[in-house]
Amino acid sequence: MSSTPKLSDEEKKARQREYRRRYQEKHPHRHRSRHVKSRYGITLEQRDGLLAAQGGVCAMCGADNPRKGGMDWSVDHCHDTGKVRGILCHPCNAGIGLLGHDKQLLSKAIQYLN
Ligand SMILES: [Zn+2]
Repeated sequence: MSSTPKLSDEEKKARQREYRRRYQEKHPHRHRSRHVKSRYGITLEQRDGLLAAQGGVCAMCGADNPRKGGMDWSVDHCHDTGKVRGILCHPCNAGIGLLGHDKQLLSKAIQYLN
């Protein structure tokens, strides 16, 4: 029998978070590459190709950088089909994401702002 005390679920989660944080710090490109591939089905190189095809700027606002310290470009995709729509800066991706990618709601937001 092991004398190692059993970790609580909270302690296990904290250890996993710390392990992930260290791994990401040690292998930033590898981590990002895996994330993009597993989440959006495209490689980091394909993502960069899409960005280049957009002229190296956000597909929505035209910003030439992701505009948040340490943040990378966002791969915008349809949540129903998974199809990649384009590459967005962080504010544009967050904005449409917070409004649930809902075209009617986004339209209402524009009406409200006018
Ligand atoms: Zn943008």
